[in-house]
Amino acid sequence: MSSLFLRTLRDDPADAEVPSHKLLVRAGYVRRVAPGVYTWLPLGLRVLRRVEQIVREEMDAIGGQEILLPALLPKEPYEATGRWTDYGPNMFRLTDRKGVQMGLGPTHEEFFAQLVKSEYSSYKDLPVTLYQIQTKYRDEERPRAGILRGREFVMKDSYSFDLDDAGAKASYAAHREAYQRIFARLGVRYVIVAATSGAMGGSASEEFLAESEVGEDTFVRCPDSGYAANVEAVVTPAPPARPIDGLPEAVVHDTENTPTIATLVDWANRTLDRTVTAADTLKNVMVKVTHPGEAPQIVGIGVPGDREVDMKRLEASFEPSTVDLLDEADFAANPFLVKGYIGPRGLQANGVRFLVDPRVVDGTAWITGADERGKHVIDLVAGRDFTPDGTVEAAEVRDGDASPDGMGTLVSARGIEIGHIFALGQKYTDAFEVDVLGENGAPVRLIQGSYGVGVSRMVAVVAEQTHDEKGLSWPDAIAPFDVHVVIANIKDATLVEGAGRVAAALERSGRTVLLDDRKASPGVKFKDAELLGMPAIVVVGRGYATGLVEVRHRATGDVAEVAVDDLVATLDARR
Ligand code: ATP
Ligand code: MG
Repeated sequence: MSSLFLRTLRDDPADAEVPSHKLLVRAGYVRRVAPGVYTWLPLGLRVLRRVEQIVREEMDAIGGQEILLPALLPKEPYEATGRWTDYGPNMFRLTDRKGVQMGLGPTHEEFFAQLVKSEYSSYKDLPVTLYQIQTKYRDEERPRAGILRGREFVMKDSYSFDLDDAGAKASYAAHREAYQRIFARLGVRYVIVAATSGAMGGSASEEFLAESEVGEDTFVRCPDSGYAANVEAVVTPAPPARPIDGLPEAVVHDTENTPTIATLVDWANRTLDRTVTAADTLKNVMVKVTHPGEAPQIVGIGVPGDREVDMKRLEASFEPSTVDLLDEADFAANPFLVKGYIGPRGLQANGVRFLVDPRVVDGTAWITGADERGKHVIDLVAGRDFTPDGTVEAAEVRDGDASPDGMGTLVSARGIEIGHIFALGQKYTDAFEVDVLGENGAPVRLIQGSYGVGVSRMVAVVAEQTHDEKGLSWPDAIAPFDVHVVIANIKDATLVEGAGRVAAALERSGRTVLLDDRKASPGVKFKDAELLGMPAIVVVGRGYATGLVEVRHRATGDVAEVAVDDLVATLDARR
């Protein structure tokens, strides 16, 4: 350590909010260069390389072949699949000296499809799985939490190519199992959830979410059935349509000053001779939907008034378009939008697309805006008084909601996405006509899968799940060093020599050793050892004169005096 390129910091970095970010910076694992762009220092790089190696071994074990594509890419293949536009501002774009536009790859489906097309021509070559561990670039809107959400980050991405559905299913299953082995070896607590495929396209996808309160993803589980999904992928069970005949007429009421759901419900309970809850009202939320490269379109979103619109769910419904709430200028430009009193009829009369929550089925009656200040309409019936332009998954999913499989209720938790597997179907192989000659002489269009693991993000995720108030605490599988040997007093030549011998014995046992031979106080050294987080800390101090060293187990805090000769056996017993 006296020569290691390492400086630990006493204070948390000012821009850090989540524990892994604070600790990885304080412990000298990474350093920020620009927002979402980080340098890996020696200790951090060792962890990153070990994560990479575990991922590599498990990819090799399912027959994956490692290759390496460039990060600097031409735009034409992305144009062929529409992703040059669909990726929108998330793609880093640049122009070369000849004026040719290029991109820094956010993910590489197009290029693997093209590569297989150019190299393979016969069914005999298939199936094939190719992968790379490579630096990706995404101009994230909100880079966050250090390496957890970077703009430059390391991903393992693999791609399978199969002749038929059965083969594609088998490739998907092999990846799913490989991911389970990877995350088990890394000791991560995670769940597999149904996910949306977004701009990636394809039929089905699942995400691996590490359980963490600082995660940006919310997922729900049904403990009774085992159903699990990212909230973005939850499909609201629609109740059956109800008969319209005999329902009371829609009547417009003067509701005075009732621009919010709460004031409206209050008014209704004072005025109508029935009990009304927020769930009886239809709240119409106005948004701008912007398809990349196109002008924004105003859309009305109708949800039961007891639910908020979940913007992440809404955005997932519109991907690759982005969604924003209307601002004051938009309202001013569209005077038919009477804030607080917007109703389906006014929207549709003015040509605004109106989408509703799946609970708004034909025959349901609503209290909603009448498009005039101070007026609402009671008993506006879907399928009679208004016909929505479609349904949309936008309403928040809440604990206690019915599970979409009808087998219980949902509970929610937060997670960090660590892996995502996609059954892509033929979106990309169609775009590039990736065909091989089949067994019967006819061309066969290949079926592609795409599978990603956030390799650099894993470093932060493991730190997040294993740290304590004193610092990092690495599992054996990816610790930068197996043992941290502390020389309590560098001025004592016996201790220095003894620590050298202890370190050599540990290395002979196959362990990697970080030796703290700095001229610093024991207190500083112990604090740093806890901050840096090697799984075992061995202190060569006063007891050494009688043949004893102190062994501290970082994760549990257990401390024991051990005879030098028993040290390796003691550590072995811990494994
Ligand atoms: P997120 O929803 O977190 O933005 P994503 O769905 O865009 O992720 P994918 O395209 O599925 O990500 O990428 C595969 C994996 O790469 C993700 O599961 C994640 O672990 C990792 N990853 C994605 N974006 C980043 C990033 N900005 N920084 C670090 N890792 C990332
Ligand atoms: Mg994803």
